[in-house]
Amino acid sequence: MDLKSYIREIPDFPKKGINFKDITPLLADAKAFAYAVDALVDSCVSKNIGYVVCIEARGFVVGAPIAYRLGAGVIMVRKPGKLPYECSSLSYDLEYGSATLEIHKDALKEGDRVIVADDVLATGGTALATIGLVQSYGAEVAGTAFLVELSFLKGADKIRPHAVNALMKFDY
Ligand code: AMP
Repeated sequence: MDLKSYIREIPDFPKKGINFKDITPLLADAKAFAYAVDALVDSCVSKNIGYVVCIEARGFVVGAPIAYRLGAGVIMVRKPGKLPYECSSLSYDLEYGSATLEIHKDALKEGDRVIVADDVLATGGTALATIGLVQSYGAEVAGTAFLVELSFLKGADKIRPHAVNALMKFDY
């Protein structure tokens, strides 16, 4: 299946210079969505995964069906103030300024094996922060799952040695 034909390019969104990869046409097409989830599940099945850690917000849509298919739990990583219970947090640098992600304090324990899931890997800062949160429990990132990798932004270098498992690669 030509998955890239389901990704809509939105120039200058949300700000000038960003070529936004809109995944909503892929999500809305039953066959393309099922194909994408199945393909990501196939790359994770042998890894004995306890949880899929999903990054707010589009990562929830990608990660939750993968977790269901793997027989794994879903853990949400969210922006500050969204999760109701006690949280651990991690701040990281953006191009301008910084951002923080939170996860429930009791979400993971030492030895848990997880997949980190999001829609798009761009600079890798968000994924790296999420990996940091997972590792702070002594849990293991056994894999990643992205629909799209923006290879020109070198996110793969940032999250090394963790491998980028992405269905589509764009170099623009
Ligand atoms: P980054 O931390 O730079 O890897 O950015 C990752 C987060 O920003 C992901 O959660 C993506 O959903 C979103 N993102 C960044 N750049 C884009 C883009 N060009 N198109 C769509 N989403 C993007």
